[in-house]
This record gives sequence, structure tokens and C-alpha cells, in this order.
Amino acid sequence: MEFKHYEKPKTLSEAYRLLTEIPNSTIISGGTWLKMSNPSMDTLIDLEDLNLDQIEEKDQTIEIGALVKLHDYETHPAIMKIGGGFLSEGVTQILGVGFRNIATIGGSIAGKYPFSDVMTPLLTLKVDLIFYPEKKMTLEAYLNSKEKNLGILTQIIIHKEDGLGCFKKVAKSALEFATLNIAVFNQGKETRIALGARPQGPVLAHEAMTYLNSQDDISEAIISQTAQLVLDHIPFGDNYQASAEYRKELAKAYVKRGIKEVLVA
Ligand SMILES: Cc1cc2nc3c(=O)[nH]c(=O)nc-3n(C[C@H](O)[C@H](O)[C@H](O)COP(=O)(O)OP(=O)(O)OC[C@H]3O[C@@H](n4cnc5c(N)ncnc54)[C@H](O)[C@@H]3O)c2cc1C
Repeated sequence: MEFKHYEKPKTLSEAYRLLTEIPNSTIISGGTWLKMSNPSMDTLIDLEDLNLDQIEEKDQTIEIGALVKLHDYETHPAIMKIGGGFLSEGVTQILGVGFRNIATIGGSIAGKYPFSDVMTPLLTLKVDLIFYPEKKMTLEAYLNSKEKNLGILTQIIIHKEDGLGCFKKVAKSALEFATLNIAVFNQGKETRIALGARPQGPVLAHEAMTYLNSQDDISEAIISQTAQLVLDHIPFGDNYQASAEYRKELAKAYVKRGIKEVLVA
């Protein structure tokens, strides 16, 4: 990574001014991805002094600053409680603790990495993202958005729901990106299913969810049909890790297992 200038603004408005006024400037959070992607930049804008590194639990929400380290996120009691700990499980599998003490939750979302083990379980919950200047959008709307300049991600807000979740990362080894990842969350009335690393980024399986959530009793046949609807409506692709056909086989097996884990258990 090469850069000519390094700035540590004291306010968000200053950070945003630098970002928008200096050509080829970029935000740095943990810098783990920036360092690896080796870009050449004019100015690095470090958000460290902006007090964005706190997790605050409120009655209805958990408010997570964008600069919260992945390890602080995965070990926070409020995060570990959601869905029985499936959010933490997604993060625990990303490299080692040393790495996760540097990488941030904001960098993990702002990067929109298609292989993300952070976003797939979050997508099954009600999650809002807050940007500076004033913008609020759901995680799903953000993932679908083609807008390039959303500003600075400042907060991730999880709306608390009681329920049970599960997360599965399928990877060739503990150090590799997911070949596929899957999250299922049930909050009583509704089950949500998300798949990522297809190799495209995480999506909710809306058709399968609508079908499953309209059933009174959950039988083996209904679970199989739900998995089939995932395969019929979610695109899977080939890359160096696996073929689309292999990913479909994984999705079929793990969607069924996930539903059983959160509904039948
Ligand atoms: C070797 C390696 C293996 C990895 N394996 C996995 C894996 O298996 N699963 C997984 O989920 N992830 C994996 N990751 C991704 C890892 O989690 C990311 O590197 C990390 O999340 C990025 O966080 P960061 O804080 O270091 O972001 P940075 O590197 O600082 O920034 C990443 C990008 O986001 C932008 N950005 C950062 N913060 C903000 C903000 N607040 N507002 C707007 N833009 C912002 C930056 O400008 C940059 O473009 C891996 C990364 C590496 C390097």
C-alpha cells in the first residue's frame, strides 16, 4: 500500500470533507484489506479519533460503532446472545484473534466482500446501516445498492429479536475464504435464510422464505421443497474454489440442516 498523506480528522465532517475534496483519498479502518489490495493513494483518512469504537446495548437495539474490532464484536455479550451466538460464529472463523483485533466491523461491511462471513448472518436480522452525511439504509438495501459514494459508515444497528440462528461456513481449510456460507434465523413467526460466497455476495432467499413461512407444520417434504426453491431462485457461479453445481449441492444440504437446527430442534 502506498500513500502520500495521512490524516486523522477529529470530526466526521472533517473526515467527509477530506474524502470528497481530495482526489484519490480513502478511508482506512483496520487497514487489513487495504494493505493486502495494495492500492496507491493520495491520502489515507484514519477514523480512529472519531469515537466509533463502542457497542451500546439499548432496550430494542444494539448499536455498533463502525470502528469496533471484529474480536470485540464477536465476544460482546449482547452479540453472543443474539440467535444463540450465530453472529459470533461467523466472525470467529475469520483467520486468528490477532487479525480480528485489527480488522473492524465497518471495514467488513463497507468492503462489500462477496465472501463475507460477517454479513451473511447479519442479513437474516433487521439491521440498519448509518452513514455520514445523514443516511440510513437496511443492510439488504445497501447490498443491492449500486451507489458508489454513500459516505462514511458510522454505525451498524441491530434490532433485537428473540430467536435461534445458525451459521455455516464451508471452506477448504480454516484459513480460506468460504466456498459457500449460509445463515438461517427463526424468530417464532418467521424464518429467514441467507446465502453468501456463491461466489457472489450474500442474499436473502425470499421465495424459499415466503414458502416456508406460509406453512403450518414443517415436514421433511416442506424442508426439501424450501431447499429446492433456494436452488431455483438464487444464482450460483463457478470460481477457482468450486463449480456452481458443487455449490448447489452444498446449499441443498446446508439449507435443510439449517432449517432443522432452528425450527425442529
Ligand atoms: C488474508 C485475508 C483473509 C480474509 N478472510 C476472510 C474470511 O474468511 N471471511 C471474511 O468475512 N472476511 C475475511 N477477510 C476480510 C477481512 O474481514 C477484512 O479484511 C476486514 O473486514 C476489513 O476490515 P478493515 O477494518 O481492516 O478494513 P480496511 O482494510 O481499513 O478497509 C476496507 C475497505 O472499506 C473501506 N472502509 C473501511 N471503513 C469504512 C467506513 N467506516 N466507511 C466507509 N468505508 C470504509 C476502506 O476505504 C476500504 O475500501 C480476510 C482478509 C484478509 C486480508
